Amino acid sequence: MAAGDASAAAPSVLTVDLRAIAANYRLLRARLGGGAECAGVLKANAYGLGAARVGPVLAQAGCRHFFVAHLGEGLELRPLLPPQAAIYVLNGLASGEEDAFIDARLVPVLNDPGQIGLWLAAARLSSTALPAVIHIDTGMSRLGLSPAEARHLAGERARLNALDLRFLMSHLACADEPGHDLNLAQHREFAGHLAAWPGAKASFANSSAIFLGSTYHFDLVRPGCALYGINPTPGGPNPVAGVARLEAKVLQIRDVDPPRSVGYGATHRVTGRTRIATIAVGYADGWLRTLSNRGCAFYGAVRLPVIGRVSMDLITLDVTSAPAIGPGDIVELMGPHLAVDAVADIAGTNGYEVLTRLGRRFRRVYLDEPQAPA
Ligand SMILES: *Cc1c(COP(=O)(O)O)cnc(C)c1O
Repeated sequence: MAAGDASAAAPSVLTVDLRAIAANYRLLRARLGGGAECAGVLKANAYGLGAARVGPVLAQAGCRHFFVAHLGEGLELRPLLPPQAAIYVLNGLASGEEDAFIDARLVPVLNDPGQIGLWLAAARLSSTALPAVIHIDTGMSRLGLSPAEARHLAGERARLNALDLRFLMSHLACADEPGHDLNLAQHREFAGHLAAWPGAKASFANSSAIFLGSTYHFDLVRPGCALYGINPTPGGPNPVAGVARLEAKVLQIRDVDPPRSVGYGATHRVTGRTRIATIAVGYADGWLRTLSNRGCAFYGAVRLPVIGRVSMDLITLDVTSAPAIGPGDIVELMGPHLAVDAVADIAGTNGYEVLTRLGRRFRRVYLDEPQAPA
């Protein structure tokens, strides 16, 4: 165990199947119509699973476009990705960051006229056509040029000749609901903007929008969640493979009789003799507190309900139906028996939040392709 690496002795293990991520990437890419390329979204540490490990695996699978949210995430990734890989920073460019973007060859997603001005000034100073993506808001009302700003910019398009405009992009609000009116409305609005930019490349689709059909693909799709095993087609079967498995150790077993209660707030009262296993995972590990009295774990194929509240470092399971279980045994909290989307449903959130909250106290194990002999 490396000194100072507390997670090496951790009783809980998060296993990330990099082979499944590569397979999911290839599956998504195979769905694309002619010409569209497939990026990989690595923001928030690759949805909590480890961007430094995921990025090179996607590059190995042929990915050449990577999206992060923060400048810092881009700076961390730059030395880990091939030099020709493009790294786009979704949250855009702030004044004073120009040199950091240029030195690390990061591509800012320009979200407002002020950012476009900053990047044009930096291009002039460095006498280089700096690469850029321009984000047009078509319905998220979050980041990007307003429709009026986008029309104004199109009218003075020649200004942008000083930049290397890689893509015009927009982002869908309801791509995971194929029947939602906003999908077509945003598509129409985006296509309207693109008509004013002959020859410009476009990027529109997240994971779910890849499954809305090839008219949504344009030149570059930007999947995140589907790479990490979250179902991009909720309501239908999951087309992608599960990636993350979370297993934790039983610390202690006890038998409890009525009228005892379990945990903080005494929210669960046993109704008969109950065998309880205490597990070393809690909300400080990202195991959401809304799973109190609702979540479950698996021991082999046996479902073990969470009883009582999730505490900071511990949860308690009713293991009466698995009498063989003992201290040191391993239970599954997420994995083949319990997909990330199932955990999210029970917790009242989405798979993105479940993955991105997974804590740092887990020992992380990465399953990778065997390296080809040199
Ligand atoms: C997070 C994000 C994505 C990826 O979305 P998924 O639903 O995870 O595929 C794509 N584009 C933008 C702008 C994003 O913020």
